[in-house]
Amino acid sequence: MTTLSAVRLISEAAELAARRHNGMARKGRGNEPYINHLAEVANLLATATEGADAELVAAGWLHDAIEDTETTREELAQKFSDRVASLVVECTDDMSLPKAERRRLQVVDAPKKSASAKLIKIADKISNIGARMHADPTADERDDLADYTSWAEQVVAGCRGGNVWLDTTFANVVRQARASQ
Ligand code: ZN
Repeated sequence: MTTLSAVRLISEAAELAARRHNGMARKGRGNEPYINHLAEVANLLATATEGADAELVAAGWLHDAIEDTETTREELAQKFSDRVASLVVECTDDMSLPKAERRRLQVVDAPKKSASAKLIKIADKISNIGARMHADPTADERDDLADYTSWAEQVVAGCRGGNVWLDTTFANVVRQARASQ
């Protein structure tokens, strides 16, 4: 296991995430680069923990790397740390399962996650709800936002309680999403 300083840990994680997710766009409008989502999640985690947990912020940058790119747990453990690798694995869905089953499992498994993985899950859902809110939504976009928000609330119900700021930020984004319906 390598031991990187906090600054190097986070900048190496950001660079690897940028390279691995290169050319990927978020679902939905505007072809927003995928890295924007990772930057937002990492920054939410840094804010929530007042910069006290570099490995958590690094895992925020990398949380979709195993699920969406050719990145393995072993590689992350070797380049970063066992904890960073474990956190990313905890945030990785089994992509061989159908979407409905993956969603069901996220709700069922949320309470069993580690305290730090729960924070990543909440930050992820905050970012994903925010990306689905538009000033002038189409009917499909409205349905998608309502559907995603209800499901995200079920997942976050099993993750809450570890960080007041993240819990409040999630509640606020849900309120905004409902108000925009
Ligand atoms: Zn994500």
